[in-house]
Amino acid sequence: METRPASDYDEVVHLFERAADDLSLSEDVRILLRMPYRELHVEVPVRMDDGSVRAFPGFRVQHSGARGPYKGGVRYHPQVDLDETRALAALMTWKCALVDLPFGGAKGGVQCDPTNMSLGELNRMTRRYMQNIAHIIGVNRDIPAPDMGTNAQVMAWMMDAYGQTNGYSPAIVTGKPVALGGSQGRDSATGRGVFLMLREVCRELGREPEKTSVAIQGYGNVGSWTARLAAQGGFRIVAISDVSGGIWRADGINIAAMETIVRDGGTLRDYPGADVVSNDELLTLSADVLIPAAIGGVITADNWQTIRAPVIIEAANRPLTVAADAALSDHNTTIVPDILANAGGVTVSYFEWTQNIQQFRWDEERVNTELERVMVRAYNHVRDLARDHRLTLRRAAYRIAVERVGEAITLRGFV
Ligand code: NAD
Repeated sequence: METRPASDYDEVVHLFERAADDLSLSEDVRILLRMPYRELHVEVPVRMDDGSVRAFPGFRVQHSGARGPYKGGVRYHPQVDLDETRALAALMTWKCALVDLPFGGAKGGVQCDPTNMSLGELNRMTRRYMQNIAHIIGVNRDIPAPDMGTNAQVMAWMMDAYGQTNGYSPAIVTGKPVALGGSQGRDSATGRGVFLMLREVCRELGREPEKTSVAIQGYGNVGSWTARLAAQGGFRIVAISDVSGGIWRADGINIAAMETIVRDGGTLRDYPGADVVSNDELLTLSADVLIPAAIGGVITADNWQTIRAPVIIEAANRPLTVAADAALSDHNTTIVPDILANAGGVTVSYFEWTQNIQQFRWDEERVNTELERVMVRAYNHVRDLARDHRLTLRRAAYRIAVERVGEAITLRGFV
């Protein structure tokens, strides 16, 4: 088994180098893609509600702009750091290229715990972060979006802060509230993309939805929409969790009933007749499909042997380390990689950006139809390449993405 490389970013570089080897990519092009184009580390001082001042570390990393403006989410989480932000920025380059969007890759974040901050503190922090990165972003330069710990409200604050010095600029961020120029269907887009990949991969493997059990780690934006749409699509959701743990019920969880409990102020564990499981246990349950939809690095060299699901769909970014991916692939686990599985969010972000620039609105049906077209086309492309060359889906996906970015670099005459 491979030894685990040193850092998050090293892991993503490893995947890139492997694809570059497969493609015999020239060293001239590799040099440009090995390191991000630009990295910004800022201090984000915030007056807290108790009168004290705290300074949060903030980041924005732009990996490659070869195929278009930089694009990527902003994460608010205690574990945000430069290395993780770099890794996620590079993933965005490969994700946008794989689903053929005219964007490069970026990522941002603030190291903080948004669950312990008031709305006022979050609003002030967001405005200050936006001010501090404003000189490197722009409607045709770099367009932020939501990620873990951020949402449509945070995007509304970012747009407002940017607009105070630059004028009304709805296309500066995506994932905004619909009332401020957000797109119909953006909220559900990442989960819808995950569901489409679930549907396609099960079709490929001859698994009927009604006979397929699904365990989902995470009940945030991505996990909740994945659960809702998969249940509507006939799949049996047997486990779901949030940061404090999860529930398991072999006969299936009624997702609509569970949502009502949570909406009325309850927790997942108030769902009747289910067993309580930890987040670590959830990963090891005997479900047909496992969907990690929370944080990265949950399946590693230390626990891959406990994973029983024959299919894993990476709704989160980087839930599997390189070592775990290699070991599970060697044991015939089908893994739909993050750069494909969760690309629905950036795809509808692209639709939102184009609608803002044209000052034109699409209805939700059009958004969902176009999203399905993009996701299924990308899936088919990856599956065909994997089948023809006997590759894993991840290896095929990286080949497609790296080839496209390499071609753009060469055509532009960067090297
Ligand atoms: P979110 O903040 O809405 O939800 C995160 C969920 O994970 C919550 O249920 C939270 O309770 C849970 N969680 C947090 N820490 C955990 C831990 N240590 N163990 C288990 N669960 C934990 O975030 P989200 O937007 O749903 O993003 C989830 C993942 O999907 C992230 O990896 C993100 O990068 C990825 N992603 C999100 C989008 C998007 O459009 N939001 C797009 C692509 C990829």
